[in-house]
Amino acid sequence: MLAPTPLSAPRILVRLAAAPATKEAAIREAAQLLTASGCIDGAYGDSMLRREAVANTFLGHGVVIPHGMVDDRHLVRHSGLAVLQVPDGVLWHDGQVAHLVVAIAAQSDTHITVLRRLTRLIQDEARLEHLRTTTAEADIVGALSEDTATGAASGPVTDLRQRFDWTVDYPSGLHARPAAHWVEVAKTCAARIQVRHGAQVADAKSLIGLLQLGLRCGEAVTISAEGDDEAGALARICAAVTGLSAGEKAAAQRAAEAAAKAAGPVAGWNPADRPTTLAGIGASPGLSIGPIHVLASADLVVPDAPEPLTTGADRLHHALGATADQLKALADDTERRLGKADAGIFRAQAELIADTDLITLACQLMVEGHGVAYAWHAAVDRLAGQLAALGNPVLAGRAADLRDVGRRVLAQIDPALRSGHALPDAPCILVASDLAPSDTAGLDPARVIGLATAQGGPTSHTAILARTLGIPALVAGGPGLLALAEGTPAILDGGTGRLYLDPSAADIAAAEAWRARQRRQAEDEARQRALPARTRDGHAVAVGANVNNPEQVPFALDQGAEGVGLMRTEFLFLERGDTPSEDDQYETYAGMLKALDGRPLIVRTLDIGGDKQVSHLQLPKEENPFLGVRGARLLLRRPDLLEPQLRALYRAAKDHVGPDAPTGQHAPLSIMMPMITSVPEVLRLRDIAERIRVAIGAPYVPLGIMIEVPAAAIQADALARHCDFFSIGTNDLTQYALAIDRQNTELAPEADSLHPAVLRLIHMTCAGAARHKRFVGVCGGIAGDPFGACLLAGLGVHELSMTPRDLPGVKARLRGADMAALRALASQACEQEDAAAVRALDTASDLAGLAGVAA
Ligand code: PEP
Ligand code: MG
Repeated sequence: MLAPTPLSAPRILVRLAAAPATKEAAIREAAQLLTASGCIDGAYGDSMLRREAVANTFLGHGVVIPHGMVDDRHLVRHSGLAVLQVPDGVLWHDGQVAHLVVAIAAQSDTHITVLRRLTRLIQDEARLEHLRTTTAEADIVGALSEDTATGAASGPVTDLRQRFDWTVDYPSGLHARPAAHWVEVAKTCAARIQVRHGAQVADAKSLIGLLQLGLRCGEAVTISAEGDDEAGALARICAAVTGLSAGEKAAAQRAAEAAAKAAGPVAGWNPADRPTTLAGIGASPGLSIGPIHVLASADLVVPDAPEPLTTGADRLHHALGATADQLKALADDTERRLGKADAGIFRAQAELIADTDLITLACQLMVEGHGVAYAWHAAVDRLAGQLAALGNPVLAGRAADLRDVGRRVLAQIDPALRSGHALPDAPCILVASDLAPSDTAGLDPARVIGLATAQGGPTSHTAILARTLGIPALVAGGPGLLALAEGTPAILDGGTGRLYLDPSAADIAAAEAWRARQRRQAEDEARQRALPARTRDGHAVAVGANVNNPEQVPFALDQGAEGVGLMRTEFLFLERGDTPSEDDQYETYAGMLKALDGRPLIVRTLDIGGDKQVSHLQLPKEENPFLGVRGARLLLRRPDLLEPQLRALYRAAKDHVGPDAPTGQHAPLSIMMPMITSVPEVLRLRDIAERIRVAIGAPYVPLGIMIEVPAAAIQADALARHCDFFSIGTNDLTQYALAIDRQNTELAPEADSLHPAVLRLIHMTCAGAARHKRFVGVCGGIAGDPFGACLLAGLGVHELSMTPRDLPGVKARLRGADMAALRALASQACEQEDAAAVRALDTASDLAGLAGVAA
């Protein structure tokens, strides 16, 4: 069923009833036929023998394919095949006996076309048997000239013994998910099952074969079966085929609704010319205009390192097995989190790599003398290219799946071939399935002007980093993103989470004008960014920046930060392949204090776990990492991680103050512990910290905790007794309060930190802290939202720490507001029934100049 590659009519020379005594004699005899017919220079025969010394050309089922070395292709004058029929067989390799010696002299793609025909033939044992003994040359010539599928090689395409007709009623046609289900069911049957559409036939056990039928809704097919329990097999496949109809229709309905919603107007910039729109979730505001670059295997250079077929085949076999395990785990995990339908994507991917066409093609390339990684990559590329070229958007999506899964296998074959992120020279909007936080952290905003991921959520660390980098980003855009053609012009709106494809010149001009207006507003805000965030009635709210290394400090200060409210130290671990030593950490913390030049610095101890997994720590895999040994729980179990970090911090504090400082002088450093759930945790951590401080002879350093779980917010008064300050992590507090995994794409729109339940927990935290006169900050994402910042100030939060770029907008908004009005607004917000009602207060309230400059 592969689309036929033009075969530049190779000559087919046949010698019947040949009886070469040895493999070498067989090759020489075939080469002589090719030489005599002018296909090859005589030296190519030697090249064939040389190839045989380094690779086994036994293809299977008595068929061998001797051919010359790649470097000797110039010795081929015309493409040609010389077939020796050896009825008694000739010993080939390791006891294998050849009956059909097909010597190939091929230019360009001819070789692979011939191989494809041969592999089809190999699947038809009866026909092969006939060719071994036939006395008609035409039978052999015919078999090697056909592109039709096995069993349908001559004459009209025939169905198998038992059949039924069906009209495709899946609105999106036969796409990968239902096709994978057909294959799954077909594979449980011993009988052969065939699907025919007109003259095209596919084996129901081959996913790629089925997909290549390109079946669209309304097209008629005949499904037939023959062999063991054929009636039972037909009944089972019929139930599978028709049983999916209702679900497919419902899915199409949902997709249509989502598309209609995506096309509707949004609050923010709207194009006038209704371009094709993909909707995700806004993760980092701003408009970017430029070409799409999809992170794809095209970025990979796979070296061709030939190796013996036996070890190569073993490596491929293991890589396929390991990838299948990986996909199964992914599917199971997805099923638990998102449900069966989404998990089906990975089950379909697992079918793709088990496809016989794909594996055969890879093996053929290996037989041809290519290395295993190269052969696999080329096979994937070729089949994906063919799928994409059929002009069917559904199949183009499957091509993306095939490439995706192909990359997984490649990484298993050779870990050095994990996809690199080579970028085009011109700035681009980067599209990826998802990016690990450390990948995002490494992006250069000059080259990546926008970021769109198929997966992820707005509070994922990828989104946070995109905001830090000032790269407009959308997340959860869905798998359709990955099927976009390279270079497609687009406008990405990271505020509304829309991606507009092939925009008109008028829309591009309008987007540029909008961007210019936004820039002017930002400039207005920026002019005031150095002023304190003091409300009109004189209440100062402290503002800090969330930055992770000393190099980011100057920019944060320039944006108006008064200090650093959150330094996430796990990035010291995530961004490198090993654990930083105490001295390395000391350098970083001392560097931060120096860069801040006396301004406050709050360093959070390691918060590993959840979506921040550090592979080199080799921590046990957990079913629910967000509910597992994360943050403080890990620190208490791993003194080897906690203690060097605390020592490095206290040493930095001590050296910052200096030996001659008067007693009692503090460094402007505070230490904060993540993911606290109980008083005993705080007490144990305090004890460890105090022991280390005393041992080092460091000055007192305030110790605070993150309020990130409802238990901590509810018990804030008890916790406040034992620590110096709180910082509320609204990203996690939202996740745990609303029971929504912060990475869950489907639920991401509901994971709103302005949900009244979250606001009430913040209110409780502030009340608990006030009882012990403790300082409360917020360092989660909502602190950087001008309206969110107003609510937090109204709830009694003293400090807001955010991505540096959010500082000017937040400060301008607070400077335009009155604290009395903010308090009233906050208590009104806590009384609302849902997050939408809270957000509606934003537009409804022009309270006492609340909107300030930013409105
Ligand atoms: C938070 O949870 O809000 C927070 C600031 O911590 P992180 O995002 O690093 O988990
Ligand atoms: Mg957190």
